[in-house]
Amino acid sequence: MTHNHISVQDALPEQTDKKERKLIGDRGDYFLNRIVGETEENISACYQCERCTNACPVCHYMDIKPHQVIRYIQMGWREELMHSSTIWVCLSCEMCTTYCPNEVGVAETINHLRNMAVHSSITPKERHLAVFHQTFMEELMRYGRVNELWLMNAFNLKPKILKEKIQMGTLKEEILLGLTLLKKGRLNLLPRKSKAIKEIKKIYRMRRGDII
Ligand code: SF4
Ligand code: SF4
Repeated sequence: MTHNHISVQDALPEQTDKKERKLIGDRGDYFLNRIVGETEENISACYQCERCTNACPVCHYMDIKPHQVIRYIQMGWREELMHSSTIWVCLSCEMCTTYCPNEVGVAETINHLRNMAVHSSITPKERHLAVFHQTFMEELMRYGRVNELWLMNAFNLKPKILKEKIQMGTLKEEILLGLTLLKKGRLNLLPRKSKAIKEIKKIYRMRRGDII
């Protein structure tokens, strides 16, 4: 009787495959449950019909498309999402949410991911957009609403922004647009504080996970 020699290594499933694959339950459950808990969105209801992506006006500029964002959450691929351009490119126009047959709040979920990224130590893939988002939130926290003129001023004062705009040649264009809006009375020179400033701050802190 002959014995073919089978080593222990041969008997095991392919280790390299196992390492590279990202499985639900591997790092999926925790992240999925966290997002569902924080957003109250029914992420598991998504069946990847792609209607959200087809409705998105800027999906061509995204590295992870809206339907894939939902899939990545189901799979627990947090790092990939935090490092994506998608969370910064999204315009929050909510077309994706409107077209979803399962009422998954895709736009709200992406917005939540963006806020998570802001409060993480991850270097944003789209630095310019990330700084703009941060400035927008700072202005909102200060006044409870956003004055476009003050927002752009605050944004321009952030490190490297003005220099980058000069290099890209967009500063002149922006100034001309600002002057046109000013002439038409579409820009307020001074910011006005919202009466609901306290509530706005509270909602923001709650969404961020602060203990109120
Ligand atoms: S439209 Fe809704 S169900 Fe379809 S892929 Fe997008 S999130 Fe999923
Ligand atoms: S909210 Fe964002 S992801 Fe959704 S359609 Fe608009 S730009 Fe696209």
